[in-house]
Amino acid sequence: MTQPRRSKTVAPVDDALSRGLVIAAHRRHYGVELDRGDTVTCVLKGRAMTLACGDRVQVADGPDGASIVGVDPRRTLLYRSDAFREKLIAANVTQVLGVVAPDVPVDEHLLNRWIIAAEAEGCRFAIILNKSDLDGAPALVKRFAFYASLGYDVVPVSAKRDVSPVAPLVAGQRSVMIGQSGMGKSTLINALLPGAAARIGEISAALRSGRHTTTSTALYRLPGDDAWIVDSPGLQSFGLAHCSEDAIIGAFVELRPLVPHCRFRDCRHDREPDCAVRAAVAGGLVAPQRVALLQTLLREARAARDPSR
Ligand code: GDP
Ligand code: ZN
Repeated sequence: MTQPRRSKTVAPVDDALSRGLVIAAHRRHYGVELDRGDTVTCVLKGRAMTLACGDRVQVADGPDGASIVGVDPRRTLLYRSDAFREKLIAANVTQVLGVVAPDVPVDEHLLNRWIIAAEAEGCRFAIILNKSDLDGAPALVKRFAFYASLGYDVVPVSAKRDVSPVAPLVAGQRSVMIGQSGMGKSTLINALLPGAAARIGEISAALRSGRHTTTSTALYRLPGDDAWIVDSPGLQSFGLAHCSEDAIIGAFVELRPLVPHCRFRDCRHDREPDCAVRAAVAGGLVAPQRVALLQTLLREARAARDPSR
């Protein structure tokens, strides 16, 4: 499997080229906000790589319009993958915001995968608990106290009534919002940045014109330097096949202090004797469902690497 992080420049970097930020992505068509101010739609030549919102790129003009000819190295890259494909979600983000709501059944397995993806990239993670105006909200806050106990902010908000609790969470950060569809991500973006959605909507429509209307990803700038939010399409699955076994284990924050106490340095916390993680589960100190998830992810990672498949 290729490793998208090591994005090599596809052409030599030339100072004469325009530089910019990818703010809309739809298949191999991208909206790029150039540093000089205007926004252009570009194609990406060559099949060797793909880009994501948040990528810094070099753009060249040509007879058929603008094209992207190079990409800067990424500080972080959030993506999902299975044994066969990778799907980039956002580049250069500093935090991942998982959006949940009381009126849509929350797939907690999926939510845990977002956490692991964020931790594996060294990004912050927080939960936005939207639609706090609905009756089911207090029960959901209670249910999500578990994530607060792991150290993740859980921020209740009503995008429809008052979005201000989210402002300090996104200030100064490069965020990506992920969530199952219907949680209210678009409503949150609209409330945070009135008008921005309409502008991006035009760019996305231009990228989509005449093509299949699969959802696209868009980046919204916040006031201040280099702060923005990426809104990704609602995702039903989130494979982590690209993460190494050690990265997966390291992404479980509550296991970090325990792992050094296992008897074996390469303990997978499954059947090994004197495993500190399983002892903590038995003692009620660690949630069994998190260790079950760990085992699932480790099995997936092994299967993705097994060439006999
Ligand atoms: P997305 O699929 O995550 O982008 O979700 P949308 O922004 O399209 O919202 C899904 C539905 O939830 C819409 O009918 C919204 O009007 C509704 N919604 C969004 N935010 C709130 C909220 O704070 N309170 C309530 N009651 N409904 C909301
Ligand atoms: Zn162990």
